[in-house]
Amino acid sequence: MTSILQTLSCADGYDPESLDAERARQLILDMVSPVEGSERIGVREALGRVLAEDVISPLNVPGHDNSAMDGYAVRFADLAAEGETVLRLAGTTFAGRAFDGRVGPGECVRIMTGGVIPEGADTVVIQETVRTENGRLVVPTKQRQGQNIRRAGEDLRADTPAIRAGKLLHPAELGLIASLGIGEVAVRRRLRVAFFSTGDELCSIGTPLKEGEVYDSNRYTLFGMLTRLGCEIVDLGVVRDDPAAIEAAFREASARADAIITSGGVSVGEADFIRGLMAKLGEVAFWKIAMRPGRPMAFGKIGGSWLFGLPGNPVAVMVTFYAFVRDALLKLSGVMPIEPLPRFRVPCVTPLKKRPGRSEFQRGILFHENGEWKVRATGSQGSGVLRSMSEANCLIVVEHERGNVEPGEPVDVQPFDGLV
Ligand code: AMP
Ligand code: MG
Repeated sequence: MTSILQTLSCADGYDPESLDAERARQLILDMVSPVEGSERIGVREALGRVLAEDVISPLNVPGHDNSAMDGYAVRFADLAAEGETVLRLAGTTFAGRAFDGRVGPGECVRIMTGGVIPEGADTVVIQETVRTENGRLVVPTKQRQGQNIRRAGEDLRADTPAIRAGKLLHPAELGLIASLGIGEVAVRRRLRVAFFSTGDELCSIGTPLKEGEVYDSNRYTLFGMLTRLGCEIVDLGVVRDDPAAIEAAFREASARADAIITSGGVSVGEADFIRGLMAKLGEVAFWKIAMRPGRPMAFGKIGGSWLFGLPGNPVAVMVTFYAFVRDALLKLSGVMPIEPLPRFRVPCVTPLKKRPGRSEFQRGILFHENGEWKVRATGSQGSGVLRSMSEANCLIVVEHERGNVEPGEPVDVQPFDGLV
């Protein structure tokens, strides 16, 4: 088996001392592949899970030729090429209650939207274009054969895939599966992700803070982000900056999870002893990414588990999670294809300080003004200021090459809605 470090070092544009953020995302994504294992569960339980097998439609959808409009089902051959045609009303068909009979020559049937096209008829004339005279229907000329009919199997043919394996199931898919009369689906097992925080200064909730200590918040943002992604989580708590304790935590994490996320301990001052430890336990690359926040990062494998070693700063944890970890975890969970988080461009009303040569992820507030969406930066952009994440409703992503942004210039934004 080729080693991870070897594979990485052969990749185009690989320089662990300076990686473009997009390159790093792609390198990680290329390395990981879906974990094995699936189960069959009920449709409702499948919300947020990843489909393990194609859902094959047992039915034609729609099941029958039916009317797209309220009107009259007629035989096209009865209609005169020139002038009006007078037809006899033979009955009515509603959605769910079919006309019981055949439309004979010179006849028509009242039909509602969704009503099954009765035998003999091949065209629907909409009600707004006809008139009745002495109990008879008068149809104007210039109808098209087959008009206003939805064909059986037009949306979906029986025995063809309705949803492909790899799809993350949203409300629309639950409805689609139910519309086929299917009650259970095969989904991938949930990805198991273990995480812990490192740092002698960290204190857990419930313990009074001593001087110089801070409460550990990263395990809470990680809990939230991973839960939203549909992962099963293993919270291993706070681990001291002590090689034996960290080694024990890594061993437990890799025994229990498919992926491990750590926060802290990868910055230059701290990386050295972790580096030695990693070399002993697995294969891990230490990266400097040209981005802010979130420059240092570790990526590799410990035992059978992928490791994402994130920086300790609370904002950096969230930004790097969405920049690198999210897509990789989705791929590990079996999602196919991976669609990057959407970004779109809006004018930025506040000036942004930005240095060329790195990507910056600033916290922003998208707002609507005079019929247009715009963005402004939140106040402090310090990477430890978690409050700025909470005030923000998007990230402003300023590209690698770009310098300062003047008010009114367009910038890319990545909305939080549904993510954070
Ligand atoms: P590090 O990457 O370990 O050097 O940490 C960078 C900064 O983030 C330091 O100010 C840490 O105190 C802070 N930090 C690290 N881990 C956490 C955590 N789990 N919760 C809150 N702050 C943290
Ligand atoms: Mg630390």
